[in-house]
Amino acid sequence: MIESTIAGSLPKPFWLAQPKTLWAPWAQTGDALAEAKRDATLLVLKEQEDAGIDIVTEGEQSRQHFVHGFLEQIEGIDFDRRVAMGIRNNRYTAQVPTVTSALRRKRPVHRTEATLARAHTARRLKFTLPGPMTIVDTVADAHYGDRVRMAMRFAELLNEEARELEAAGVDVVQFDEPAFNVYMDQVREWGIAALDRAREGLRCKTAVHICYGYGIKANIDWKASLGGEWRQYEEIFPALAKSRIDQVSLECINSHVPIELLRLLDGKDVLLGAIDVASERVETPEEVAAVLRRALGFIAPEHLVACTNCGMAPLDRAVANAKLQALGAGAALLRRELGQRA
Ligand code: ZN
Repeated sequence: MIESTIAGSLPKPFWLAQPKTLWAPWAQTGDALAEAKRDATLLVLKEQEDAGIDIVTEGEQSRQHFVHGFLEQIEGIDFDRRVAMGIRNNRYTAQVPTVTSALRRKRPVHRTEATLARAHTARRLKFTLPGPMTIVDTVADAHYGDRVRMAMRFAELLNEEARELEAAGVDVVQFDEPAFNVYMDQVREWGIAALDRAREGLRCKTAVHICYGYGIKANIDWKASLGGEWRQYEEIFPALAKSRIDQVSLECINSHVPIELLRLLDGKDVLLGAIDVASERVETPEEVAAVLRRALGFIAPEHLVACTNCGMAPLDRAVANAKLQALGAGAALLRRELGQRA
């Protein structure tokens, strides 16, 4: 009970990519880049193990961005045709590639790093992929002319990839869907159906991560505009509870998410954000435990997992590592407390 994991990404060392930057340019090319990715992957596994994290990830060390890392290996997407597009309902502008023809997976996207990570940790391994709705919100379309049809095609490609990750020994496949907090009507209309298509036939655990975004200025400003109570989750959790997804990763610490909304996720594992990725201040284990303790009023301890609010990719590396340790220690603290009570 009260295991720990992270949302997915960790900062990259300076010799792999420019620090504290989203879409950071690689610091190496060719064979040196492949070697740097490999070395960084082993390092982040070790750091998670040392911090006592139960379900580890490869820290997304081999991809530049959580969406485009997948898209780079998809035929039908033209990265030379990048356009400036408002994403997440125009919250901020990103340079996104364009879908120009029918989509097809050219080759396994993440097999190398998944196999590497599997060979180097005995812990349970989680692997993150972008969700179909978030993908279609982060790419320009000059071919399908229909968001839903394009999302379903991406869901099929994600499913091919997820099945291979499972075969490579991955224990949890997680789909990242920050767009679920933005297009709540569409989530109910087709977002969850696309997600279920992406997980079809998998026997490993499946998760969805739904957050309020990385700690960048556009997101911090957006959150400030959401008022004293953030009830976005309330609109999607009931539908999500009926989906075939096993686990829901969500933002909690330093947010205005009413904790009682967890009640709507009956039957799911909840990966509760107990580490703030929008602040350089390192939480204490007691603070982590306090957030989890509040959730215990609504989620049974065997379904509650300590997690980060979102990916830690843009953070300072030393800060992220200290936060990892607080996360592991906070979960352990609460485990001891519950053990004593039992
Ligand atoms: Zn996130």
